[in-house]
Parts: sequence; structure tokens; C-alpha cells
Amino acid sequence: MLKGKKLQEFAKLVLKIGVNLQEGQGLEVVCPVEKREVAHAFTKEAYKLGAKIVNVRWNDEIIDKYTYQYAPIEALKEVPKWLVDSKNYLVEKDFCYVAISAEGPSAFAKVPAEKVSARAIAKSKALKKFSDVVMANGIRWCVVSVPTLAWAKQVFPHSKTPQKDLSTAIEQSMRLDNENPLKAWEEHVNTLQRRANFLNEKRFSFIRFKNGLGTDLKVGLADDHLWTSAKELAKDGVEFVANLPTEEVFTAPHKDRVDGVLVSALPLCENGKVIDKFRIEFKQGKIVDYSAEQGYDALKNIINTDKGTKSLGEIALIGKNSPIAKSGLLFYNTLFDENASCHLAIGKGYPTTIKDGDKLSKAQLEEKGLNDSVEHVDFMIGTPDLSVTGIDSFGNETPLFIDGEWII
Ligand code: ZN
Ligand code: ZN
Repeated sequence: MLKGKKLQEFAKLVLKIGVNLQEGQGLEVVCPVEKREVAHAFTKEAYKLGAKIVNVRWNDEIIDKYTYQYAPIEALKEVPKWLVDSKNYLVEKDFCYVAISAEGPSAFAKVPAEKVSARAIAKSKALKKFSDVVMANGIRWCVVSVPTLAWAKQVFPHSKTPQKDLSTAIEQSMRLDNENPLKAWEEHVNTLQRRANFLNEKRFSFIRFKNGLGTDLKVGLADDHLWTSAKELAKDGVEFVANLPTEEVFTAPHKDRVDGVLVSALPLCENGKVIDKFRIEFKQGKIVDYSAEQGYDALKNIINTDKGTKSLGEIALIGKNSPIAKSGLLFYNTLFDENASCHLAIGKGYPTTIKDGDKLSKAQLEEKGLNDSVEHVDFMIGTPDLSVTGIDSFGNETPLFIDGEWII
């Protein structure tokens, strides 16, 4: 169970491998109020590592649920200036930022979808400056999850001890069952980096996905795209890992060069809504048709957010033998599920997945094919029979995945 010594180890792993907190730096932790012991563990470990100050910001999905139920939609579109200022303050003062995302997957299932998305869009727009900095690695940040009761019940609906079971699954995926988790992470991160280097040397023009579900998609890569793995370099030159756990090697698709059909491999949970069994068709980079057996309205809201939510911003490769994939669990949480399977994202691309992207202007990034949006929504397309092929500008093909797993 993620408590006591294991919890301290978890916090230490996130602070050292995740945000790589340096002595004298500030830390902000966003934490569900239900898991206050997690924030306590982070606070203690951070001070032990020499943090200057630790700020904790609480969230509570029951309060959020009432807000969606009773507040008028106009009020949900207003984002207080203090919230925007407080985020920009983190950048100004060079804080590290840890977000503990543990939303119950169906927390907002019974509230109107348009209210949830109105607030999400208003927040994304108001906090664009902050998210631009985060996505360009202007600060060191890390997203992790801890088992809340509502979430655990959804993952293990028939268990008498759902929270304990989810704890165990999270510990395994975080490699905390390893004798030396810090060392295990260093080795794992190096393997991912080796694959990213291989892909960067190949300079593929397209990546093709094919499987028995009906996915048959050619994803063009952005000019000067850079395959990136877990380990990233922040603007201050310090390494960090932005998601824990992480299994992915990813880069930027070209926003105008995606053609074909994709079929989702796992349900997508976004803003407390579940979207399942969906299919999206692309022509010249744009979504031209889509359908979903469950959550069609939520998918429609995502796609219609802005111009950029009609194109892709990320392509990520993950083998089926990752600890998360091997668990066979559906976590109903993108952080885990996206590491179980190859995925794509609708919306904003990461400037860090373009060579020297942090030094380029918006227009220059766009010219290279990087997509921009207020949204970034990941969804899974990897299945155990997925084949992935790299195609270079001469049409030479290099198999990368056979039957859902890396062959390089
Ligand atoms: Zn990803
Ligand atoms: Zn993503």
C-alpha cells in the first residue's frame, strides 16, 4: 500500500527522477485533498532535499461536481486573475511543479458536458502563457498519480480492497517493487533514449500504423522533428522526467500530413467523461469524420475546441510489454493508459519535439508543421497486433513494431 516508507520512496523518486528538484528551489504540489498524506510526504522529502519553500494547492472533485451542477455556465467561463498570476509566479520564481492527477474517471459523468468543457476551455485559454512555458520545458514539471477511492473502485469494481489493489498496480508501474527504484529508472530511461536516438538517425518522413481493429493511418512527421524520450532537458539545462511512470518515445506529427483512419484501442477519459470505441478519419492532417459508440458529445467538444483540435500534436510509441501494459489493467487515467499503448494526441504539439524548437517563434514552428491549440488530449491506438513502420523520404520501409512490440 502506498503509505509509510513506500510513500516516502514514491515522493523521493518523483522529486529526484521527476522534477529533479535542486537545492534552494521552490516546489508547488497540486494534490487531491483526499490524499493529504501524499502532500505531506512530498513536503517532507522536498525540504530534506533542500527545497526553499513548498506550496501545496488542494483540489476536491466533489466541490467541482457541485460547481458544475449549480453554477451558471457564464460563471464557469470566468477565470480569476489571481489563479493566472499564481501560475505565472511559479515561472518567474523558477519553481518545480508536481501535479498529482487522481480524478475519479466518472466524477463528472452526471453533470452537463458543455459546462465541463466551457470551464476547461476558459482555463486552458487563461493559462495559455503558463502551459506554453510548461510545454517548452521553461520550468521542470512532473505529473504523477496516487490511488483515490473513487478511482480505485472504477479500476477494481469487484474487489473488497480496491485502493490496496490500485496501490500495488501503481507501485509496480512506478518500479517501486524494485530493490533500487532510482537505479531501475535510470536504466529504463537510458533504453528509451537509445530508441529515440535510433529514430532520430533514420529521419523518417512517415510512420504507418496498421492493426486488425481497422487502424490504417499514415502519420507524416514535422520537419526537423525530434524523437524524445522520458528524459528531457529544461531551459535551465537540468534534466527531468515530465511523467511518471513513462514508457514512451514520442515526436511531432506534421499537422497537414496525416491520412487514413484510426480506431481507438482503449477508452479515453477526459474531464470526467468516458469516450469509447471511437473512430477518426484524417485527410491532409485534418479530422474529416468521426464517430464514437460512447461519449460522442465529449469527443465532439474536444474536436470543436479550436482550429488546432482538428489536427494531431503528438505521436508516441510504446511496446506491449511495458509493466503497465503487462498488468492488463485499464486504469481510466491517461497517465497510465497512455503508457500501455501507442498513442496520438489531438491538439497542441510540443515545441521540444522540434530541433531547437524552444528558440523558434510560433510562426516558425507552424511552418515546420507543429500543431498549436489550447488543448492536448492523448488517446490510445496500440493493440497487441499493431504493426508500426517507419518510411523515409525515398519510400524505404523499416519495421519498428511487430505484433505490438519494439523490434529495435
Ligand atoms: Zn504521450
Ligand atoms: Zn500527450
